[in-house]
Amino acid sequence: MRNLFWLLAIVLVGFSVGCSNQEKPEPETTAEEEFVWSPESFADKKIIRYQVPGFEKLSLQQKKLVYYLVQSGLAGRDIIYDQLYRHNLKVRKALEHVLENYNGDKSTDDWKNLERYAKNVFFSNGIHHHYSSDKFNPDFSREYFEGLLKETGHELSDEVLTAMFDPAVDNKRTNFDPSKGLVKGSSVNFYDPDITEAEVDAFYSAIQKSDEAIEYGLNSKLVRGENGQLMEKSWSVNGMYGAALKEVVSWLEKAVGVAENEAQANALKLLIEYYNTGDLNKWKEFNVAWVQATEGDIDYIHGFVEVYNDPKGYKGSFENIIQIKDFDASARMEKVAASAQWFEDNSPIMDQHKRAEATGVSYKVVSVAGESGDASPSTPIGVNLPNSNPLRVKYGSKSVSLGNIITAYANADGPGLLQEFALNDEQIKRAQDHGQLAGKIHTALHEVIGHASGQLEPGVPQPATTLKSYSSPLEEARADLVALYFIMDSTLVEMGLMESLEVGKAEYESYLRNGLMLQLRRIEPGKNIEQAHMRNRQMVSNWVLEKGKADNVVEMIQKDGKTYIQINDYMKLRDLFGQLLREVQRIKSQGDYEAGKNLIETYGVQVNQDIHKEVLSRSEKLNIPPYGGFINPKYVPVTDDNGEITDIKLEYPDDFLQQMLDYGKNHSFLPVEN
Ligand code: ZN
Repeated sequence: MRNLFWLLAIVLVGFSVGCSNQEKPEPETTAEEEFVWSPESFADKKIIRYQVPGFEKLSLQQKKLVYYLVQSGLAGRDIIYDQLYRHNLKVRKALEHVLENYNGDKSTDDWKNLERYAKNVFFSNGIHHHYSSDKFNPDFSREYFEGLLKETGHELSDEVLTAMFDPAVDNKRTNFDPSKGLVKGSSVNFYDPDITEAEVDAFYSAIQKSDEAIEYGLNSKLVRGENGQLMEKSWSVNGMYGAALKEVVSWLEKAVGVAENEAQANALKLLIEYYNTGDLNKWKEFNVAWVQATEGDIDYIHGFVEVYNDPKGYKGSFENIIQIKDFDASARMEKVAASAQWFEDNSPIMDQHKRAEATGVSYKVVSVAGESGDASPSTPIGVNLPNSNPLRVKYGSKSVSLGNIITAYANADGPGLLQEFALNDEQIKRAQDHGQLAGKIHTALHEVIGHASGQLEPGVPQPATTLKSYSSPLEEARADLVALYFIMDSTLVEMGLMESLEVGKAEYESYLRNGLMLQLRRIEPGKNIEQAHMRNRQMVSNWVLEKGKADNVVEMIQKDGKTYIQINDYMKLRDLFGQLLREVQRIKSQGDYEAGKNLIETYGVQVNQDIHKEVLSRSEKLNIPPYGGFINPKYVPVTDDNGEITDIKLEYPDDFLQQMLDYGKNHSFLPVEN
């Protein structure tokens, strides 16, 4: 159930998540210190580095666990290439070979175009664009490439070269246009090429589905047997992808030996059994054990997980994300949660809508330590698993926000957007000094207090029933407003969450810039706002703009022919947020559909066409690539004379292409014929 997170991560680069599928206002702050967050851009992509802040706090045993899990994921990297297209590995190997062995002229346009093509392929784990799914068309000729192959002593079959260079061949990775046939029109390697959608449907509807919790078809390719009958080739140590999965398992076995606790070790053992056998019952058992293994500082996502690359939604893509607890964020959340009753008592909502016994909800932020497969180089920013709905209902799910990835996105955007849209140097400086902390406190208040606060009046049904399609934007508005109201409260300074109210001011400026202007970057010209979080943010921003007019609290002003947002009275603005919170809480507590609909439709849906045009043209000039992908950190074991690991060093490589070539050399296990 990660689709929303994933899409947000890809389309809306530079947004953080909060609650399940929540996006947060646009991070605008600039880089800190000298860490280079974004070493390069090419085509429509930006390469980003991320830091792993919690790693140094781990014990040696925990560091080993991280290292073994990261290695296990990298060992399966070849799999995603083969899954996405049957010729991907051959093309990748040829590109690696040429890049490493060609010694001729590298100053030509042809060579530069080849390098860019190779980077595109590495970024997308194959020759189709990771997001649009369209095939990359090389900006160099087949003859040029064949010349390079010849010179470096590498061969590719005519079939593979045609796949690379003929734009008509296999030009869509995952096709959702029914007129071309979902299966036939897709180049993914989940079904033999001559298998039709009707055959896939027939095969899977005929399977005896004895257990609803099992994700049938998840870990196999559907192929045609010798007699023409369809059969599954399972992805397991003794089946397809066995050579890579054997390596994966050998690292997982080491991980079992250094697990933090028994529950974690048992889950890993089930995962190993699953990879060994390909038995989906074991995958189910693993998921139950995994979702219940909640102790410990380290966690992971591992397996054939998400099915979005399969037009039919059966086949899981190989994926691996290693996570370390975000110790700072956890401490912040705990501090906020410990004061939950204080927040409830001091909320501007009506007394009958307050909880007598308020407790914060637990919300997890983690740091990514390493990623592979479907999650790399392009990554989600939040994950909520397992996918099997019966398992979620019965055992719950793990929902995490990938904090260090979100931070990296925010830093990578650089100061461009902020400098363009902030009113003056004072706002810019405030955002640079306090913007990141403001965003983090907003998230903590939104998640831990906001969604958990307030209560319904007796006899009022759940908001999904009363407020219908408006319940989601209104709920997000409620949680945002709790955060906005309290982030300007000096008690937060006393609690030690922040040093001064400058943090609150930075958040107010950033929130309104985003709600009134910046978020419109993501709306196509002529369209209105559909997405719940965007509706919420525009509703809140427009409402305070209008209600504050009489007192001149907030205004949109013109300077040099451009529009800016000026806040004239931060405390009155806080009061307006409080008034709106009181009203939105009343709407929820009483189930007042008409009032809720009115708020959202009046303030949250319509796009101001002039502002929209202006925002698009001002951001276009900044040339910020729409997609971001990540260089992984590298873990280097330090050993003593007996070969025992005494420490694991964390390094931050800064060359994307070099990392891709290293992976090709050191973490490639599937045999490939040319
Ligand atoms: Zn939320």
